[in-house]
Amino acid sequence: MIDPGRPYAVQLAARAAAIGTACVHAGDAHDPFTHAIEAPLVLSSAFGFESAREAAGAFRGENEALIYGRWANPSVRALEAKLAALEGAEDACAAASGVAAVTGALLTICEQGSHIVAPRAMYGESARLLRERLPRFGITTTFVDATDPAAFAAAVRPETRVFYLETPANPNLAITDIESIAGMAKGHGIVTMADNTFATPFAQTPVELGVDLVLHSMTKALGGHGDAIGGVVLGRKAEVGRIRDLIIKGMGGVLAPFNAFLISRGLRTFALRQRQACETASLLAARLASHPRVERVYHPSLPSNAGHGIASRQMHAYGSILSFEVEGTQQKSTLEVGRSVLEGVKLITHAVSLGDVRSLLVHPASTTHSTMPAETRAQANIGDGLLRLSAGVETAEDLWQDLTQALARA
Ligand code: PLP
Repeated sequence: MIDPGRPYAVQLAARAAAIGTACVHAGDAHDPFTHAIEAPLVLSSAFGFESAREAAGAFRGENEALIYGRWANPSVRALEAKLAALEGAEDACAAASGVAAVTGALLTICEQGSHIVAPRAMYGESARLLRERLPRFGITTTFVDATDPAAFAAAVRPETRVFYLETPANPNLAITDIESIAGMAKGHGIVTMADNTFATPFAQTPVELGVDLVLHSMTKALGGHGDAIGGVVLGRKAEVGRIRDLIIKGMGGVLAPFNAFLISRGLRTFALRQRQACETASLLAARLASHPRVERVYHPSLPSNAGHGIASRQMHAYGSILSFEVEGTQQKSTLEVGRSVLEGVKLITHAVSLGDVRSLLVHPASTTHSTMPAETRAQANIGDGLLRLSAGVETAEDLWQDLTQALARA
């Protein structure tokens, strides 16, 4: 919960203090042999047994002996424990990528004939999974305006198994009222899944709001350094166990131990990075909103944003990502002006991904959301000229200077 009447920086500092120790220490296992302070990176693909009896027992799930790297790995387990602590979830299952986590969670919960209700505005590849890939297996989706809980209620059918949420949404930061959707789902025996990649557990903890399964692309702010692809599903132990059995053991979407090590290391500074990135994002959003060349800014910190009230109620911070549209000129359309801004920035990196220590700027309609039909993008309020900015941890004034010089030349 964010109190718009109190200084935002003070509230960000309090959030960082609330999770800072868990970021550094949760999940750490003391190694009694080496006394290493940094958990050793375990690259072994198989683990030896003490006896034939232990081996057979491990396969029957009667003891904790490690068997094989696709089933479990200590470096991956340490990362899963840290994430479960940060999200307030019973268990976590890491996967090879965010997309592997989304696919695995949906395939575990759904079966042939299942129906999903999902937002129109969401990450392009997740939308494509729902729109093009899952229907081949008899799993269909109704896309709704996720800012309206009544739209979820109206889409429910007897075979609806999942309410899928992404809030704030990629790329237009649309906000969904999590508690009201999760409450409605419980009444219908529907599983609620929330992709929490944009918010991160710094800014939002969906389990507390009634969500059953939380998803992340760890490639983004959790890892934070742009050097490791990974995903995770978090929730109750039994459900996470079923997902692990399917996506990891059964379908092979395993996270490499080295990536687990890199992401765990990134997480140690997660609270510090997010505290700064969230503060910068709000500052840039406010300044862009009063810039004469900027037509619209999307960030839940802005009191004018449609989701501001709900975001203030359900989030711990407004997040580090914003998007904006620059006004066209007599010579140039919004799209062309947007391209000029992208090509005009010098400090900010023109690249996909988000949540990185570097600030990243991208044009979703021609990149991350290019597989979404133009009509769907229009319905989802993803404008052709929209630019998405992920604030990094550079000095905020340097980022603002870079944006203003690019806007002046666009
Ligand atoms: N979910 C969201 C909101 C994303 O933005 C992305 C990637 O951009 C993904 C999931 C997919 O994650 P990954 O690239 O790690 O597979």
